Amino acid sequence: MRETSKPVVKKVAIIGAGPGGLATAIALRKQGIDAHVYDKAKEFRPVGAGVGLHPNGLRCLDAIKPGIVYILKRSGCQVDKVTLKTSTGETIRTNESTMMRKYGQATLTIWWWRLQQILASELPAEVIHLNHRCIDFEQNKNSVITQFENGKTVESDLLIGADGVNSTVREILIGDGQPRYLGSMSWRAVVNYQEELLPPNEVIVMNGEKTILFLLNLGEGDMYWGARKLLPDSTLSSTFAEAKSRVLREFTNWMEPVREMIAKTDPERILEGPICDRLPLKQWSYGRVTLLGDAAHPMAPSVGQGTNTTFEDAYELAECLYNFPDLQTALTNYEKRRIQRTEVIQTRSAEGEKRYYQPNQQTNQQSQQLFEEEEFQDWLYDYDPKSESRLKPWKETAVV
Ligand SMILES: Cc1cc2nc3c(=O)[nH]c(=O)nc-3n(C[C@H](O)[C@H](O)[C@H](O)COP(=O)(O)OP(=O)(O)OC[C@H]3O[C@@H](n4cnc5c(N)ncnc54)[C@H](O)[C@@H]3O)c2cc1C
Repeated sequence: MRETSKPVVKKVAIIGAGPGGLATAIALRKQGIDAHVYDKAKEFRPVGAGVGLHPNGLRCLDAIKPGIVYILKRSGCQVDKVTLKTSTGETIRTNESTMMRKYGQATLTIWWWRLQQILASELPAEVIHLNHRCIDFEQNKNSVITQFENGKTVESDLLIGADGVNSTVREILIGDGQPRYLGSMSWRAVVNYQEELLPPNEVIVMNGEKTILFLLNLGEGDMYWGARKLLPDSTLSSTFAEAKSRVLREFTNWMEPVREMIAKTDPERILEGPICDRLPLKQWSYGRVTLLGDAAHPMAPSVGQGTNTTFEDAYELAECLYNFPDLQTALTNYEKRRIQRTEVIQTRSAEGEKRYYQPNQQTNQQSQQLFEEEEFQDWLYDYDPKSESRLKPWKETAVV
């Protein structure tokens, strides 16, 4: 690596104003790069549900924008305990969270929309371009020209696809088709916080027959319920009302307060979706185009690392663009730092998703071991931008 005062690109177009695109724009602009973000959404709306931010992601975000974690903490909720219950409400066990003690940062739960708002507020309004759906791009030796559905085009030195699991940039760059359905459907919503269901600073995980439900406090008077069920069929409901009836039907034998909470949720606030990932890629960058976040490594939510690894990507990409002598070397080093790590986490997340739902105790224990194996946790959560040891690869070869 070299010490330089000049990044290898001047102008960057980022597709996607999700957590990845916004965090990357903040990091690049800090280095003096003219980074702009383009999103297909016509406006920022209160969408999404609950996101868990862990020490590795929070540390990277704080390195990108010192002080931002403090703002997120004021908006979200710190997790001190995780309680596992049955679908009828009996407590199986409560674990105190060891995140703060072991890794120096507590897990934070926050509404996805608030996270997006907080990140967006760190950028000048004129660099976020809504109503810009990327439909194509072409690159040559000197630049990339990106084309949007609204007829506009933008020329940049580098194009970053941070456009999520159904990434258009990835489709054009790699063309590996649709995401892989992992066999479970999910329904999620943000509702008013109810202390009788969820004590403050606690996460509740409830297990039923092929079903699982999460309750998270999101701060600012909101909480999240996320219900998942193993289902061979990933067909989506055709209306909001149908999705709500479906989740109530799938959770028929669950304890009444949970059913009541679902029944009281405005159907238009319930997000229905299949749990998907994609197989890991060996290469994310071609010429002047690269991928980041879910566009590069979408993963099942079982290890809670989608957003956290995305913040790691944002930090590392910005570092590489600043510290290496030319664009190709910078992108090669970005991949070297990121692909092996995210491949391991993608693989573990997919395995975890399959084992989540087994009611039998032994499998539950195996699944628990998968997440709680201390060495793996240390490798996962200790990721620290201030330490070179973060680049240490995980010992196992990933098998998907
Ligand atoms: C609306 C929404 C809500 C979410 N809610 C949650 C949640 O509650 N909990 C959770 O854990 N994860 C949630 N996620 C996923 C989570 O943000 C990601 O798993 C992770 O943070 C990686 O983020 P990302 O920025 O790479 O991708 P994403 O967060 O998926 O962001 C991708 C962005 O790209 C935009 N985009 C897509 N295609 C195009 C295109 N062709 N042109 C321009 N823009 C495009 C999308 O509008 C989106 O803003 C949500 C994602 C979205 C898009």
